[in-house]
Amino acid sequence: MNDTSCPNCGEEENLSGDSKETDRKESITVTCGECGVEWERDLKPQCSKCGTRDLRVAVRSIVDKSRGTQLSIQSLSVVYLCPACDKEEVAAWNQSNTPLPPIELPYDVE
Ligand SMILES: [Zn+2]
Ligand SMILES: [Zn+2]
Repeated sequence: MNDTSCPNCGEEENLSGDSKETDRKESITVTCGECGVEWERDLKPQCSKCGTRDLRVAVRSIVDKSRGTQLSIQSLSVVYLCPACDKEEVAAWNQSNTPLPPIELPYDVE
């Protein structure tokens, strides 16, 4: 069953994926040819807190501090939200349907 679609723009056709199989985990790194988002598709996502598999897929922006003082959004990552444990983020995602704000900046300000 292939129901993959881009969590950012909804593209279903122009996607490329690398299937990786190890003995412990199966995941696919998918790249969207439309908007350039790359994400790892966990084939068996599960909430680490309550164990449910009924998760929502959302997109979170990763902000990179580039040269100068401007913050620019460079990439997005896909996150799995639990409707019970991540209620607020699920609500925010449902309302805005735009990438969630980053949790933290990847680099310290020099
Ligand atoms: Zn896309
Ligand atoms: Zn949960």
